[in-house]
Amino acid sequence: MKKNDAIDAMIERAQDTREHYARIEPAELSWTDDGAMRIVFDDGVSDAFTPELLRAVCPCADCRGTHGTVPKAFNILTSSSLVGAAKQTVIDSVEPVGNYGLAITWGDGHDDGIYTWAYLRGLAGQRG
Ligand SMILES: [Zn+2]
Repeated sequence: MKKNDAIDAMIERAQDTREHYARIEPAELSWTDDGAMRIVFDDGVSDAFTPELLRAVCPCADCRGTHGTVPKAFNILTSSSLVGAAKQTVIDSVEPVGNYGLAITWGDGHDDGIYTWAYLRGLAGQRG
């Protein structure tokens, strides 16, 4: 399975369980020594999400692509875009969105994705 296919499958599973986790909340949020975001959910499940993974699963319409278009996040990189690509996986800031999720601002200025707790809980424990 290619990496993009594995990511797509993770996202699909997380979206499938969104209703199931509609009431999930984080009990604890912290950063690991190697820069991953660790979330303990109130059902006792926890996982550490690397910035690379969080950027790859960005739920915004641009990154996911609309029907029939290639998601931007997976465009083939040219050498001139490599610096920008590195910034794509640097987290500038994380802000709560209401009581239902997080908004992440990335080093390249991208900030359209809202990561709901339900979405993150659906991703938790999945490693393709
Ligand atoms: Zn995005």
